[in-house]
Amino acid sequence: MERRFHTRWACAACILMADYLRYTGRFAPSPSGRLHFGSLVAALASFLEARANHGSWLVRMEDIDTPRCVPGMDAAILASLESHGLHWDGEVMYQSLQHARYADVVNSLLTRHQAYYCQCTRKQVKAAGGVYPGTCRHLGLGPDNAAVRVKLPGSITAFEDDILGTQAPNDPHALEDTIIRRRDGLYAYNLVVVLDDIQQRVTHIVRGSDLLPTTLTHLNLYQMLDAKTPDYAHLPVAAVAPGRKLSKQNHATPLDDSRPTTNLVSALRFLNQDVPDDWYSLTPEALLSVATTRWDRKKVAKQPEIIVDDHESTYYSGP
Ligand code: GLU
Repeated sequence: MERRFHTRWACAACILMADYLRYTGRFAPSPSGRLHFGSLVAALASFLEARANHGSWLVRMEDIDTPRCVPGMDAAILASLESHGLHWDGEVMYQSLQHARYADVVNSLLTRHQAYYCQCTRKQVKAAGGVYPGTCRHLGLGPDNAAVRVKLPGSITAFEDDILGTQAPNDPHALEDTIIRRRDGLYAYNLVVVLDDIQQRVTHIVRGSDLLPTTLTHLNLYQMLDAKTPDYAHLPVAAVAPGRKLSKQNHATPLDDSRPTTNLVSALRFLNQDVPDDWYSLTPEALLSVATTRWDRKKVAKQPEIIVDDHESTYYSGP
């Protein structure tokens, strides 16, 4: 009897542990425009990593920066993912619906003096050399016309990237007291991305290398919040010229959702993955299932960007 009791508790512990350790990946687009080839690469790599590890794959709409969001783009992005066979698990989380949770964290950081109000203007920070020097850290300012900054520990200055190996990005902004709530009341990306990844128990983050420097900010925030850090893997971004990545802001051509397998094959090739010879006869789902079994993260190029020619960037809107 006693033994059965122990076994039962041991099993419950195993289930909790397995749940805790379970691979959870995610794709976190901002609905400021339609998906383009660069976003497909990030969606596909995070999807294949998750599925190859028998994990779940979540989609989160990063619609926190409301002035940059374009109405209807969330639906367009989800439709595009669906048509490419990139089916996610569970409900899509919208950051715009999470304000109460973000407010609780910001208020408790302020109460614990781990965050403070800052009235410096962008111009003043620029005049001080561009990197925020902690001017308001000890001034005890009030909330009027102020942003909230976090006292970033700054002790984590390097990390192990699952694709690139040891990374110590040399970006002074990554270790400054980052803004967590803007003067206009909007919560900042650096805070909410961390809070949501914690909330959704994301264990692995696969994203473009343009976000690599901010990873140091995020890791320092995890430390401050006493939360377990995820693993990171940064992919090369698709660019039309050095330093000019395809992005919604620079009007990269949207994916043509009527050619999902062609788009997926281009993205697989960009990621240096094997493409089955008969890909053109496969549905997106069947192609993804083969790609999952063949997925090899080690083949992804260890470089910040890959130049795709103009033809590639406009390919999807071709005749
Ligand atoms: N929302 C970000 C973007 O669209 C991605 C954030 C992330 O993957 O951490 O670039």
